[in-house]
Amino acid sequence: MSRRKGGDGRLTAALDPHDQGPQDHCGVFGVWAPGEDVAKLTYFGLYALQHRGQESAGIAVSNGRQILVYKDMGLVSQVFDEPTLESLKGHVAIGHARYSTTGASVWENAQPIFKPTPDGSVALGHNGNLINVADMRAAVEVLPEHSEGRHAPVSTNDTSLLTELLAYHPDSSLEARALEVLPTIRGAFSLVWMNEDTLFAARDPQGIRPLVLGRLDRGWVVASEDAALATVGASVVREVEPGEMIIIDESGLRSVRFAEADRKGCVFEYVYLARPDANIAGRNVHESRVEMGRELAREFPVDADLVIPVPESGIPAATGYALESGLPFGQAFVKNGYVGRTFIQPSQTLRQLGIRLKLNVLEHMVRGKKVVVVDDSIVRGNTQRAQVRMLREAGALEVHVRISSPPVKWPCFYGIDFATRAELIANGLSVDEIAASVGADSLGYISLDGMISATRQERSALCTACFTGEYPVELPDESMLGKHLLEVSLQSPTEGKALPVLNNP
Ligand code: SF4
Repeated sequence: MSRRKGGDGRLTAALDPHDQGPQDHCGVFGVWAPGEDVAKLTYFGLYALQHRGQESAGIAVSNGRQILVYKDMGLVSQVFDEPTLESLKGHVAIGHARYSTTGASVWENAQPIFKPTPDGSVALGHNGNLINVADMRAAVEVLPEHSEGRHAPVSTNDTSLLTELLAYHPDSSLEARALEVLPTIRGAFSLVWMNEDTLFAARDPQGIRPLVLGRLDRGWVVASEDAALATVGASVVREVEPGEMIIIDESGLRSVRFAEADRKGCVFEYVYLARPDANIAGRNVHESRVEMGRELAREFPVDADLVIPVPESGIPAATGYALESGLPFGQAFVKNGYVGRTFIQPSQTLRQLGIRLKLNVLEHMVRGKKVVVVDDSIVRGNTQRAQVRMLREAGALEVHVRISSPPVKWPCFYGIDFATRAELIANGLSVDEIAASVGADSLGYISLDGMISATRQERSALCTACFTGEYPVELPDESMLGKHLLEVSLQSPTEGKALPVLNNP
């Protein structure tokens, strides 16, 4: 599917604004390791998590006396170079790769968010989306520095408000303050944060987004996905538990529970968001996707000549479909893997080419054949319409579309930016009507039960809200939700600039 893909982190929706699929959220990474080059460990950890956010990247490092933060718009490889990483010396670091779910995609909202205070500095990175930002903002406004008019927040995201709340601890430690603040925030949060000498990590009570703990010979690592631990040579210890806070300093590692666990992991991580080599709640993501494809073949068999994946994230499900059905598997779409490595906007003429900027069809693979196209999801339907047209133009006799998740009918408020409800093609159209709309000879979505069963998780332990409308964390009034909620009154005068800085306390 031609859109920003979670599977490889390269394709960018900016190439075609009418063609945005589910937008990824963020990747977080933290390391406490005296004697190691923590900035480089964090860089390579973020590199492994690039698929979770491609708009901005940042690293904060402390040497025990001061925290340095370097962040900018762009991919991890665009933001950092060798001299920059060399300048980030210390033994504790956090890193962040961002896609904006609350707050605009501007430099001021890049993470880690940094807050110097008389009590010590705080740098924080967040994966997820908080839904009680109005309450949080009210709590920030009564902190002394704001209520006395000495300072006004300029950033526009939920993470900045959380950083402000954590950083205010005049009579207690950052750890004690976190135990006060974390139980008051709602929504999805996998967090890493630090002061000058301590690394912290925490996960919301529902464990909506993943977060794992790893061990180095000389330290500890936390990361959004375990694949990032392998990248830096760390062994997996375990997941950070829902409702758990972890503290790592020179005394070692401690764990504190700030809320009872009520597990509701995001099922879409298994479908599309996480890397295929990630393991979430004990289940390998690639195995889940292959099983979803097998289930699709059982639920929606078809008389065809070839099973085609939509690269990259449709490949495991297409493999499963082919294995179960006995039909041949073949790559008929060729993706331009480097098209997303530019921030240059295409001209109007190029934009009209839409999908063809990113995918081509191998005509000899499909000419005269009945084909099954397997992908992970349909959001607006524009992409599938274009793919079906391309396959027919290349000579396919029949095009049958199979989707390894049920119809997406509801927006996500926990860190994934699908589209508004009105834009979702499955909101209002039946499956037959969607098939007609995209021009397919047939269309089959995996059942909800089939998808859940492929994850090997209990249904009660998963969030399925974008498919069912059953939101596991109660939502505030709809008027209080939305990506740009805070920007009406907090517009930054420097919006759009992308300047690297070093923050010193
Ligand atoms: S609404 Fe969908 S994408 Fe969002 S957390 Fe729930 S399952 Fe995941």
